[in-house]
Amino acid sequence: ASALGVGVGDDDPVTTNVVVFGSCNMDLVAYVPVAPKRGETVTGREFRTVPGGKGANQAIAAAKAGADVRMIGAVGADEFGAEIRRVMQDSTVDVQGLRTVPGRSGTAHIVVDDAGDNSIIVVPAANGTVDALADGDEELIAGSDSLLLQLEVPQPGVAAAAAAGKRHGVRVVLTPAPAVPLPEELLRDVDLLVPNEHEAAVLTGHDDPERALAALLELVPEVVITLGARGCTYGNRDGVRHDVPAFSVPAVDTTAAGDTFVGVLTTALGEGGEVPNALREAAAGSALSVQRNGASSAMPTRDEIADFVARQ
Ligand code: AMP
Repeated sequence: ASALGVGVGDDDPVTTNVVVFGSCNMDLVAYVPVAPKRGETVTGREFRTVPGGKGANQAIAAAKAGADVRMIGAVGADEFGAEIRRVMQDSTVDVQGLRTVPGRSGTAHIVVDDAGDNSIIVVPAANGTVDALADGDEELIAGSDSLLLQLEVPQPGVAAAAAAGKRHGVRVVLTPAPAVPLPEELLRDVDLLVPNEHEAAVLTGHDDPERALAALLELVPEVVITLGARGCTYGNRDGVRHDVPAFSVPAVDTTAAGDTFVGVLTTALGEGGEVPNALREAAAGSALSVQRNGASSAMPTRDEIADFVARQ
């Protein structure tokens, strides 16, 4: 079966429920010709604020791809928190599990230079409070087909969510970013791990994706390593392998390519799509996203993904 509506009639809609447990930030982005050195002040060309954080990005990517999405996380009692909540709701993400806590929302302070290189300071703030399940979280997880996790909230929270997912037979998908070594107890509850090349190397000590894939399959049953413009490689414990190339497109901003990939992949798999088709749709979704500036604003809709796949 294909997914994302490809080959599915309008009278026979397939939907999947996705719950995301993770971070929400406001990205504060300054565009400069050349980034400042220590002690230096430079004049920027432009400033933008855009909701981000891996959790929020994956939630919006999955919702745009057609999933029914709930977000579990926290924002601060400030104007950024209100804006993050509004943008997620506009993208049809259910925010009943998104708490407002005293203090500031998480922020990412990003400097982008004319070469497209960036440097980023992340201040977790409210995200730091997401260190356990709160009332109602277990029910939100139990009622979903898939649970998306990343590592921008405290690890005890991620582990508690993964354990709840496992208890309720929910597909647990972890993006191990930012890259840190992970306890095996957490990985035991993960069904599908989706690192990029760098994260796979940090987790395994192998720079070669083939060797990293083999090492990761000792820890979790299914792995996709994303390889930027080179695509991705998939493996599972039954020895099934798929190498899916990226689509050749003019990239202008690869900020949320990985989050778009995971959001679309999870939606397609949740709708019953076969793995090679789901990987291709995820590659199409991320190929569309890298052609536009921004994170959540660059993510494609279900129709855009289906059109792009059909035109290839
Ligand atoms: P990454 O997180 O950089 O490994 O990228 C995730 C996915 O996004 C890859 O597996 C590709 O399918 C897609 N992607 C990333 N960069 C590009 C690019 N420059 N052109 C086309 N697709 C890309």
